[in-house]
Amino acid sequence: MVRKKLIAGNWKMNCLSAEGMALAKDVAGAVKGSKFDCDFLICPPFTLLAMIKKCLRGSKIALGAQDVHFAEKGAHTGDISPLMLKDLGCGYTIIGHSERRVDHFEKDELINKKAVAAHNAGLNTVICIGETGEQRDAGKTIKVCESQIKGSVPDDATAKNTVIAYEPIWAIGTGKTPTAADVEEVHAAIRKTLVKKLGKATANKMRILYGGSVKPNNAKELLSLPDVDGALIGGASLKAEDFINIAKNACK
Ligand code: PEP
Repeated sequence: MVRKKLIAGNWKMNCLSAEGMALAKDVAGAVKGSKFDCDFLICPPFTLLAMIKKCLRGSKIALGAQDVHFAEKGAHTGDISPLMLKDLGCGYTIIGHSERRVDHFEKDELINKKAVAAHNAGLNTVICIGETGEQRDAGKTIKVCESQIKGSVPDDATAKNTVIAYEPIWAIGTGKTPTAADVEEVHAAIRKTLVKKLGKATANKMRILYGGSVKPNNAKELLSLPDVDGALIGGASLKAEDFINIAKNACK
């Protein structure tokens, strides 16, 4: 099964306007002048979405948010609805990033609800899962991922509207990564769980990204694994050169 790779950048809570625009323009310029056989997505903070949309005009890079509320509108101070993201020109939203799960106590049930709302608004979702260092040391990685997939991926998920991102929490921003064999084992187990949940046809087409300290120098090894269909990149997405070099090293 050939799945086109997705190279996704999660800028997190970084960049003011000038910096964000320069970064987006640099990335868009590099993508425009090349023939990468992959899809691109960048997810700036909410404050920059409208501005970055303009910088990406005419580019094949999709725009995404980093989170979304499940309600269409109403009394939810400080939140952003799926329709608002769609209205801004977003094609995607990340949901259930471990930093949301930890900082905002988000659980699978809420993530599932957000995903359904995002899909209903016509947004694609990148649903994040992954184990803590303690869970890994206790040999629970696959169990944790299975349970997160079962709980947070909605029944309406399709290969078109949903991307899974496996992000071991202990690898995020630490410079540590699992071995290639470990990554492939977990991704294969995730796909097996998706087969049980969504059926073979959907699961085999669904992209499963790896995230956690992906850099230009490890991208080739990690992204050439059979069940790794791209990367969700934090730190290295803040440098246009690194982000593009990851694509260069991982996509033909
Ligand atoms: C992330 O937060 O999604 C991430 C993978 O971060 P980093 O690449 O910096 O580890």
